[in-house]
Amino acid sequence: MKVDKDKPWTWLKYRKGLCDTCVASCCMMPVEVHLEDLLRLGLITQDEADSGGKRVFKRLKKEGVVTSYREGTGLFMLTQRPNGDCYFLNPKTRQCTIYERRPGVCRKFPAEQGPKLGNCPYVSK
Ligand code: SF4
Ligand code: SF4
Repeated sequence: MKVDKDKPWTWLKYRKGLCDTCVASCCMMPVEVHLEDLLRLGLITQDEADSGGKRVFKRLKKEGVVTSYREGTGLFMLTQRPNGDCYFLNPKTRQCTIYERRPGVCRKFPAEQGPKLGNCPYVSK
């Protein structure tokens, strides 16, 4: 069966080293982040974080980093490129440009977070 990132039942079992040969298809899925992720990324200051998500959203949307904010959950949606790539993905190397400071959800995927735990939409480079 062909792997489709939008169809988790087609995903493969994740194993260490798999990312080395993957096009980074999981980095083409929508990514939601918290204020603490934006802080760690150095995109906002502690003062801005304290001023609330709405104000942070206004500025980061203007700068093209995020596209939406849900006040109820406090989650910001990172911008995706027209082809679906995450804002922080290097389109040539297919590697994360902020890997050491990447959002919590990216750290937890696919073992602790995702629609099919332990599985991912691997597609060979
Ligand atoms: S889809 Fe799987 S193999 Fe590919 S980069 Fe993401 S976690 Fe790694
Ligand atoms: S922040 Fe990095 S690891 Fe997370 S989806 Fe974007 S490119 Fe991938």
